[in-house]
Amino acid sequence: MVNTMDEYEVYRKAIEEWGEDGAISAFHEEVGELMTAMSHFRRGRIPIEEVIEEIVDVKIAIEMMRVLFDKSPDFDVSSDIYVKKFWKIEDTLHIKHSSLVCVR
Ligand SMILES: [Mg+2]
Repeated sequence: MVNTMDEYEVYRKAIEEWGEDGAISAFHEEVGELMTAMSHFRRGRIPIEEVIEEIVDVKIAIEMMRVLFDKSPDFDVSSDIYVKKFWKIEDTLHIKHSSLVCVR
């Protein structure tokens, strides 16, 4: 998740530079690369390090999408949704809720 104002500014600047459509295209590309990497890994064609690199690319692309779509201060909306969805996973696994908290 975007943790600092510096990260936020870098993503904002990237979106400004590439445009919203360009940023969304970059997201699609990165997700596609991760899907391909996972398929190749399952077939033993690439090492795990290459999958991890693609995971990081997607993580960055997701943060950029959060900057693009979640206009609330401090990403309140997506953070709350994340926590609720995480709790749902914990419920499904009969795990006591973690220390994650909802902002609202
Ligand atoms: Mg990539």
